[in-house]
Amino acid sequence: MTEIVVSVSGSVAECLAQTQQAQIAGADVVELRVDRCVDPAAVISALSRFALPVLLTIRHPSEGGGWAGSEAERLALFQAADGRARAIDIELAHFSALAWRPARSQLVLSHHDFNGMGGDLSAVVAAMRAAGATIAKVAVTPSDAADLGVIQQLYANKSGPLVAIAMGEYGFASRLLAGVWGAAFTFARLDGDAGSAPGQPLVAELIGRYRLREHSDKTRIFGVIGNPVGHSLSPLIHNAAFAALGLDAVYVPFRVVDAAAFWRACGTWIEGLSITIPHKTALISGMNRVEPLVTASGAMNTVWRDEAGAAIGANTDALAIQRCLEETVATLRGRRILVLGAGGVSRAIVTASQAAGAIVAVTNRTHARAEELARHTGATALTAAAALAWPYDVLVNGTAVGMGAPDESPWPAAAHRAGTVVFDTVYTPLETRLLKDAQAAHCRTICGLSMFIAQAAAQCERWTGQHAPEALMQRLALERLAAPPKPLKQP
Ligand code: NAP
Repeated sequence: MTEIVVSVSGSVAECLAQTQQAQIAGADVVELRVDRCVDPAAVISALSRFALPVLLTIRHPSEGGGWAGSEAERLALFQAADGRARAIDIELAHFSALAWRPARSQLVLSHHDFNGMGGDLSAVVAAMRAAGATIAKVAVTPSDAADLGVIQQLYANKSGPLVAIAMGEYGFASRLLAGVWGAAFTFARLDGDAGSAPGQPLVAELIGRYRLREHSDKTRIFGVIGNPVGHSLSPLIHNAAFAALGLDAVYVPFRVVDAAAFWRACGTWIEGLSITIPHKTALISGMNRVEPLVTASGAMNTVWRDEAGAAIGANTDALAIQRCLEETVATLRGRRILVLGAGGVSRAIVTASQAAGAIVAVTNRTHARAEELARHTGATALTAAAALAWPYDVLVNGTAVGMGAPDESPWPAAAHRAGTVVFDTVYTPLETRLLKDAQAAHCRTICGLSMFIAQAAAQCERWTGQHAPEALMQRLALERLAAPPKPLKQP
């Protein structure tokens, strides 16, 4: 079982209090960061009073630690802790010079790189095993989630207890997948605490949202790629859907710079992906097959594998747009749809509406982009003035106007027509100025969150073959939008 470790430091009283909080949160072990303690000798004397087993670390400054004493002093503290801490962590680089090993505590040999991937990690781990490590631990810093391929391979080839951590946002998934990959332990932080290294998840998040306790090498891996990706609601709703469907599967965020490199490095162990900005075109050519709306829209937001392992691509944004509109107007055949915007979402709106038989016109701040979209799709490009005069049945906002700006609308309030349908793809805020103005003008409205949930449900159904629990997904998304988490503070 992969154990959850929380780092504690400060005075003796603070370490004991943090250990109690870690135990209540569900952690298994605390890492006592003696190098960040006020009185190193006092905390080691207090080891018997800790509520959880202790992994004792006195991190050397050459590997990111705060130890300011001599090696002789460090050695004396290690010796005092031997047999009283469950395990003692010593850097491989300093181990032979110390010329000592614990007789009763487990030996964790470690290697840290805060600027890169730490060199030949297989060789480093082999050196740790040769030196007699009970647990080999490497913590490195990727510059793209593609580097997670190296971490996964390290676990796949492991010959003994291993902890391989990719630090920072690009490596976040390595902490969440520790149980699937068979790590000896994974680090997490307490609520309100920055954690001991960049990118640690909350203990509650690991146990609750990601279900680490249930993971094994059979757990299926899904995720979302984007850049940035930290704000994504998708891990929240997809993990809840998997749990509600009783599936042994996990969904994690991957912050990806180069999508093609990520797919090459990690595509073999990932069963399905959501794809968000800026990667919606990047993987299309790498698929064995794509659904027709991908070809029509030139964008893909979903990947999965069939039973033979073939990679298939879909555009569930376009499907969700079709579904949201058809639930409101019954059929799109012959309806006149005016699309505001000419970016990725607008292209999906145009192709989805046309595929369902609608007559589509596009208007955009940069008129040349509207003309280009019209040329590729057969829609009509309208200037702003012409759009105001065009007799639409449905108005859809595909621009970013209104996002995070509750007073801004891409359409004049006075230009709304009673009886028309107004669909805003923006869902932050949930009730945009556009929708408020439309309701005041007696229009029927569709909120962007309906599209977000519908596209996620269509993804879930492709990955699992089961109906997604949409009401649950919607409730969780609404709760999150009402109370967004505080930004993560890094140490
Ligand atoms: P995009 O490709 O960057 O396109 C942005 C569009 O917004 C362009 O047409 C751009 O016009 C226009 N725009 C931006 N700022 C503007 C302004 N101040 N005034 C007028 N037009 C402006 O982005 P996208 O991927 O299409 O996403 C657009 C929006 O869709 C997002 O902001 C998001 O809220 C929403 N969305 C919703 C969902 C959902 O599930 N509900 C999913 C994805 C996206 P120019 O061409 O002139 O720059």
